[in-house]
Amino acid sequence: MLIRIVTIFPEFFASPLGVSIVARALESESLRIELIDLREHGKGTHRQVDDAPFGGGPGMVMMIEPIDRALGDSGHRVLLTPAGARLRQDDLERWAGIDELVLICGRYEGVDERVAENLVDDEVSLGDFVLAGGEAAAAAIIEGIARLLPGVVGNEESIKSESFRDGLLEEPQYTRPSSYKGWEVPEVLLSGDHARIERWRAEQRRRRTAERRPDLLGGDSAVARP
Ligand code: SAM
Repeated sequence: MLIRIVTIFPEFFASPLGVSIVARALESESLRIELIDLREHGKGTHRQVDDAPFGGGPGMVMMIEPIDRALGDSGHRVLLTPAGARLRQDDLERWAGIDELVLICGRYEGVDERVAENLVDDEVSLGDFVLAGGEAAAAAIIEGIARLLPGVVGNEESIKSESFRDGLLEEPQYTRPSSYKGWEVPEVLLSGDHARIERWRAEQRRRRTAERRPDLLGGDSAVARP
């Protein structure tokens, strides 16, 4: 799989691409990354990529022309924007099956709306908050995809049983010691009774999802926070 990243900060990616699962995916050539420096497609001697907003207002807006040139006729295009649909695990699963994915990172006040209207296939947001740029969102997406590529995560079973796979959050996990500062691991997990453990886990998945993410069960998305 090839992921191309359109960005004015290609140097941002040195560290997220250099460690752990993403580094392994790159080494094994399950994944290739191409960094496209948007400034190389900028206008004039100053390589301009942004301009003042029509209608007035603060800050600068990224121009369509350099982005259009940078994209060429490349694959499935995703614009990172707080105005996009909230990113979900099934987006990553869908994109992990695509040969060429292009992630477009905005900066400043955002991107000329005609990019979204005419040049991209998906608009996604990492969540209901505003980052300074799309690069951190692109890094998160790449890591999420890399671990879905065949052979990248050692134990494929661990991917199959994770949160969101069946529309539910994962059950809580515990490890040694079974007692710490008087905080105990649920007795059922120490029982050795696999059928009981499986029933308990299924019940925990349902309960946690209903309490924390009723929206995943089709309910109201407003969850009370502690
Ligand atoms: N003025 C925009 C607004 O109010 O919606 C925010 C622009 S933000 C400062 C600059 C860039 O960061 C965006 O163009 C986008 O690429 C990226 N960005 C910010 N928040 C994001 C989020 N939640 N998800 C994905 N990308 C985000």
